Amino acid sequence: MSSRSLLAESDPHPVRAHPAKHASPFVLVSDHAGRAVPLALGDLGVHADDWDRHIAWDIGIAGVGHKLRDRLGATLIEQTYSRLVIDCNRAPGHPTSVVISSDGTTVPVNASAPADCHARRAHEILHPYHGRIAEELNAREGEPTALIALHSFTPVMGGVARPWQIGLLHNRDSRLTSIMLELLRAEGDLCVGDNEPYVLTDTSDYTVPLHAEARGLPYLEVEIRQDLIADEAGQCAWADRLARLLPIAWARFCATHA
Ligand SMILES: [Zn+2]
Repeated sequence: MSSRSLLAESDPHPVRAHPAKHASPFVLVSDHAGRAVPLALGDLGVHADDWDRHIAWDIGIAGVGHKLRDRLGATLIEQTYSRLVIDCNRAPGHPTSVVISSDGTTVPVNASAPADCHARRAHEILHPYHGRIAEELNAREGEPTALIALHSFTPVMGGVARPWQIGLLHNRDSRLTSIMLELLRAEGDLCVGDNEPYVLTDTSDYTVPLHAEARGLPYLEVEIRQDLIADEAGQCAWADRLARLLPIAWARFCATHA
């Protein structure tokens, strides 16, 4: 890799870390919160209208993340750059780490970018983000901690409408997920997805396998449907709901697994 950097002085830092306001077991992370693009990459050849779509970022999740952080007082770590630049929930080098096409939209600059450019994106955008999460978790070593990964999903994919308002994704460690699924179903007004709309695996995900499963930390990977959190009122309602349920889930987890 050449030493020439991708990010310029005027480009935003790849990580936005908001410190905890008071003691909390929750560390909130948001891989797809931002849609910045390094100046050097222009618009990646993607039309302005497509930058408003779910392919560029997780619509609504930044608002939910900030409001949830306000309510819980917990740390929130967000990625600033668009998933079209590099997907921070994929291992570097994964076939969909730097996408050439996403939900019918081609990304011409990614298709023509040399491998060197992909490596620079990983080096300057993905690694600092995951490094910051690791730093946070290392500093909490020995403290009760749950990683809460926040995402949102498009209501219609490939012409198929998705019925779930919220889904929880899990793989080897389902301890906290099982409790939260039960609480969400007990709300009575929700269609709750269990490993829907996606299944969590070591290859389709990166953040939870790397930071939670590898460390043995309990976690939730939360997916909220984007039409429900497109505006401030929806974001507040979901932040309220999660801020109410998460401490109950945590108390039950501690009572069962402590
Ligand atoms: Zn996401």
